[in-house]
Amino acid sequence: MTQMAGIEAGEILQGIREWVEIETPTDSPPSVNRLMDEVQSSYEALGATTRRIPRDGFGDCLRVRCPWGGDEPGILVLSHLDTVHPLGTIERLPFHVDGDRAFGPGIYDMKGGAFLAFHAFRHLVRQGRQTPLPLTFLYNSDEEMSSEGSRPLIEEQARQAKYVLVTEPCRDGGKVVTSRKGTARFTLTFEGRPSHSGSKHEEGRSAIKELARQILLLEEMTDYERGLTVNVGVVSGGTRSNVVPAEAVAEVDMRVPSREIAEEAIAKVQNLKPFDPDVRIRVEGGAKRPPFEPSEEGMALFQHAQGVARELGFDLTDVTTGGASDGNFTAPMVPTLDGLGVDGEGAHTFHEQLYVSSLEPRCALMLRLFETLK
Ligand SMILES: [Zn+2]
Repeated sequence: MTQMAGIEAGEILQGIREWVEIETPTDSPPSVNRLMDEVQSSYEALGATTRRIPRDGFGDCLRVRCPWGGDEPGILVLSHLDTVHPLGTIERLPFHVDGDRAFGPGIYDMKGGAFLAFHAFRHLVRQGRQTPLPLTFLYNSDEEMSSEGSRPLIEEQARQAKYVLVTEPCRDGGKVVTSRKGTARFTLTFEGRPSHSGSKHEEGRSAIKELARQILLLEEMTDYERGLTVNVGVVSGGTRSNVVPAEAVAEVDMRVPSREIAEEAIAKVQNLKPFDPDVRIRVEGGAKRPPFEPSEEGMALFQHAQGVARELGFDLTDVTTGGASDGNFTAPMVPTLDGLGVDGEGAHTFHEQLYVSSLEPRCALMLRLFETLK
């Protein structure tokens, strides 16, 4: 493995530790903003220009531009600073290192990758080097809640970029991500008719019975071969066992590999017909993130990254994944390479960890992408 002079895992890990120890649950804007402050001042100390963009109900977003290059389309680096972990998780999962594994809430998804981007930039500044294309870093605050607040900002920045690099974690031994499924979410509300289950059973119209029949239809839409999955993840309904239930609710998550399949499958859910004509089905929701479909330009960007990795002394391969990211918003517009963050495992769990041995090569890859993309 060729290591790049001046990129040193110990220093990177120390920086990641500082970002991990400021907890940033998506639903706690003041906490997220504490880390935004820290990241903003770190970039400013290196001469970068920053702008805070407030988002209703969430922490701020932060846009950083490198001090060189003009306004021409450049490289947009996308990272989220929020995590799924509630405040106090740091007590249960304090930052600690055990051999090659470093643990902490959000360390893998994705404070590790977010910090790598910062460190690669810092390295350039320290060495007095510049990149052919201007660099823009966008840190958002609501990715773990579907990025509804920051999506317009992400799309606006992507439209002005030539390439997008996403610092989501890499997977399965360092694979980057060249396509992702799209997501759709639905809430289905079933409205039947209540009645006494003993004396007037025949007058009732059970919302739960209707829900049960529809669940089977929905789940049967799953087609692994086509890459379509439907999951009825939450159900509720009824009031008491001796009342024919008037209401029931189901929450549904759908993953789609292509726009075509998305349109067809979403329409099917939105047009569900009740088995019982006396029960009403109300469908709310729809597409959340479009599919990140493989494209020629996207694959060319990946192949470029492969060449860079080879020069650094390692093989880079790619995967497609069912999990969505903010790369789903940018990939339809501009060549996007995702999964450039750290390697590790246990995203969203109490054993979330990164592999320390991935820090130097991944940071070097990021740095060389900054320096070689034209
Ligand atoms: Zn993430």
